[in-house]
Amino acid sequence: MHISELMTQNDLFFSLEFFPPKDRAAWPGFFEQVKKLKILNPLFVSVTYGAGGSTQAYTLEIVSRLKKDYGLEPMAHLTCIGASSGSISSFLDRLHQAGIENVLALRGDPPQGQKEFVPDSTEFRYASDLVQFIRKNYPHFCLGVAGYPEGHSEAASMEEDLGFLKFKLDAGGDFVITQLFFDNNLYFDFVARARKLGIDKPIIPGILPIMNLKVIKRIVSLCGATIPEEYLQSLEDAQKKHGDEGVKSLGIEYAREQVKDLLRRGAPGIHLYTLNKADACLKIVKSLH
Ligand SMILES: Cc1cc2nc3c(=O)[nH]c(=O)nc-3n(C[C@H](O)[C@H](O)[C@H](O)COP(=O)(O)OP(=O)(O)OC[C@H]3O[C@@H](n4cnc5c(N)ncnc54)[C@H](O)[C@@H]3O)c2cc1C
Repeated sequence: MHISELMTQNDLFFSLEFFPPKDRAAWPGFFEQVKKLKILNPLFVSVTYGAGGSTQAYTLEIVSRLKKDYGLEPMAHLTCIGASSGSISSFLDRLHQAGIENVLALRGDPPQGQKEFVPDSTEFRYASDLVQFIRKNYPHFCLGVAGYPEGHSEAASMEEDLGFLKFKLDAGGDFVITQLFFDNNLYFDFVARARKLGIDKPIIPGILPIMNLKVIKRIVSLCGATIPEEYLQSLEDAQKKHGDEGVKSLGIEYAREQVKDLLRRGAPGIHLYTLNKADACLKIVKSLH
């Protein structure tokens, strides 16, 4: 079913994001985590799309299995990296055959070791090119796009970035999922500015429970999100006093408060970046009931 339609039927939903484990030997463990999370009755589950090679095929295989074997509503991420109309069509055809109806259309990040994004073709330079292509050739898919409460790292300004967000939604995007953030005011300001520009589609906040200090530092350095100074300091203190477990319990507590506040202040639902780990997400969602 289309996520846009599911959203109109459900208040205060949760959705979950996974990434395909590179090593096939890790798949049984991955699906164990999925099984544990199924209890949360997520509105949809999404699976990321790697920058190249086998993980793209893995995205396809995993979304198919999430639908067929676990009865979940999946969304496949898809990027412009290495894209041609032939490769995109073949991916979408196979998604369609597997009964998948939702795609998150993205530009993608530069491959590892490459600082600047260089489009692989003139046909797919931005996420909006992908949205236009899918809308024209595969109109039956429901399409999500990415949004950035702190602005995309390459954008000249927030205004310009919001203008391009509106462009990809006008081209056929049905809803937005945000980049992770740790200050809810950033999300609400972003939504207010988007609404002022005439963007009226749902904007789902993306929340990442911090579970490891080293890992989160690497993630924010790649995606351009910021951790508030005070929160970062408490994470550093927790690491010194209680090690990784201290960081994890603080990260879960912080994310739980973020989620509570977002829902209380009118966010339509929450997209949880699970990092393929069930326990943090279970603790967050269960504590809300
Ligand atoms: C929820 C979510 C899920 C993600 N999943 C994945 C994943 O599975 N795989 C992956 O590789 N990456 C993923 N990413 C990361 C994403 O690919 C990067 O953030 C990437 O740098 C930008 O992607 P985009 O789709 O927002 O790009 P775009 O919307 O194309 O924007 C990219 C930049 O170009 C600018 N821009 C847009 N349109 C134009 C235009 N017409 N002319 C000039 N400038 C323009 C924008 O302002 C922005 O600075 C995800 C991000 C989010 C938020």
